[in-house]
Amino acid sequence: MSLHWTGQPFVDAGLAALLAASGASQLSGVTATHLEVAVRELEAVLLSDQALGIGLEKSFAKGTLSQVFPNSELVNPRNWSKGPEGVRKKYRTALKEDLARAQEALRAGRGDRVCGICGELRPSAGFVVLRRDRFPLLSGAVNFYPGLLHGVALCGACALALRFAVASLLRVGERGRLWFLHCPSEIVAARIAQEYGWSHFRRLIATNQPLDFYGDWRTAGNSGAILCLLCQLLRKFANQLRAIYQHGIPTVAYVFSNDNRGGYVEGIPVPTSILDFLQSLQLESVDAFDRFEREVLRVDTAKDKREETQRARFVANVAGRIMRAEPIVGACLGEQRLLGGWIAHRIYLQEVNGMNHAVLALLERTGIALAQHERGKKLIGRLERAPARDVRAVLLDLVREGVLSGRELGALLPPNEPASAQIVRDVLLAVVYEWQRCNEAGESFPRLAGGWAIPEPDEVVRRLERIANDLIRTLPNRRQWITGLMTARKTAQIRATYLRALRSGALSLVDFLFLVPLGDVTQAWVRRDYLLAFLFELDREAVPPDIELVEGEEGATDEVSVLAE
Ligand SMILES: [Zn+2]
Repeated sequence: MSLHWTGQPFVDAGLAALLAASGASQLSGVTATHLEVAVRELEAVLLSDQALGIGLEKSFAKGTLSQVFPNSELVNPRNWSKGPEGVRKKYRTALKEDLARAQEALRAGRGDRVCGICGELRPSAGFVVLRRDRFPLLSGAVNFYPGLLHGVALCGACALALRFAVASLLRVGERGRLWFLHCPSEIVAARIAQEYGWSHFRRLIATNQPLDFYGDWRTAGNSGAILCLLCQLLRKFANQLRAIYQHGIPTVAYVFSNDNRGGYVEGIPVPTSILDFLQSLQLESVDAFDRFEREVLRVDTAKDKREETQRARFVANVAGRIMRAEPIVGACLGEQRLLGGWIAHRIYLQEVNGMNHAVLALLERTGIALAQHERGKKLIGRLERAPARDVRAVLLDLVREGVLSGRELGALLPPNEPASAQIVRDVLLAVVYEWQRCNEAGESFPRLAGGWAIPEPDEVVRRLERIANDLIRTLPNRRQWITGLMTARKTAQIRATYLRALRSGALSLVDFLFLVPLGDVTQAWVRRDYLLAFLFELDREAVPPDIELVEGEEGATDEVSVLAE
């Protein structure tokens, strides 16, 4: 019978650390001898002076460790009454018994009792009943069994594995919570235990510092710590980590506390798209990868405490959004600055938010055009002040000036997706800020390679394009008519302008009703803007150059209320 993942996070965390300490290359290859090697390592680390706190100010065993295994052999005050040697003896004896049971479980053939954790039939003599002092988050502590809870019976192999979980645990930072990554890839999980568990403990012992869990993340929040771990793992062993997302292996970070005051646990799933994003970013540019981590995930100690608190709040917020795979570009816009860099945000938009490649390339091109535009300052100011509502008008201005086509406007802001205005606005500003930064620093802007065809326009956009074509062919006094449409302040004025075209035969009744749908004021304004876009594009001669486009209050107000939902 061999060892394998169980699906129980704490047992698996223990198995990973056991594997790392055993010298075996995979769990199925762990033998009774490997178990002995691993147990020797666990004993050497946990019974060291640095773990027990002998001659040191802090005791890991009596302090932090009691948060994982409260009242266990290393914690219980009764064991300490005979001094450190009493504790060591107690622990060695218990560990020896556990080792013997685990070895028996491995050596024996099929037993007669199913282990509820690993699902194997094991010899019933090797089962032990564990309570919360040795199995985190079970109800009932060792000295107090509410409702006469008896704990959980585990096979010897699973019970021994749990003892090793300490080497897979990490510290979050604030509030002293602990966490570990439950990643069912043996290699990755064992590497984490090796690097942040065993090697970290060994370093502390060698320099005679009190033992503690690794927690030097210099970030904020649970999500910040998880993302920083992923960044560090990518730097150290990208190839192994690739296995996680290539096979779509579900990975969950568990943040927990198991002290006597009560248990706490929170499972935070790590979306595979996040690993995809970090990996693509690192492959694209190591500098961009470093910059993203530094500007978005790091909190360094600042002289000004208030500044540091603000920074921590920003990092915790953005990291949380990343873990939920939400858009982050808007949150990373600072004072005329894009935190994290455009390369990172571009890859995030693609890999995590699933933005169409062609639309992204188009947004990038449009942002650069805005930054270079002679009236750029004014247009950018409009975008900065009025989040979603002015976006269409600004883009329409760019169509008027030949920077964008009508179809491109339709691709950026599909008429039936009012929510896209916010992200378009954020991305445009991101490109503008990065372009300005590159100019100041004398760097070249990292443009996306071109050649992407924009998606086919939807039916509404195609129809508006056709109506614009009809109008241009048949409408008399076009410049005057277009001016009327651009300067209309009320829906009734738009309707009156269309009626003039209807009367002259340039517009059919069906198209008229399509342009001003009954009872839908918002659509009337949206469709007017797209119609104008095509008129601008198809008949540049007829466009009045010095007329300001008016966005009617009625349309804008309605649109904002749609966005707020
Ligand atoms: Zn078991």
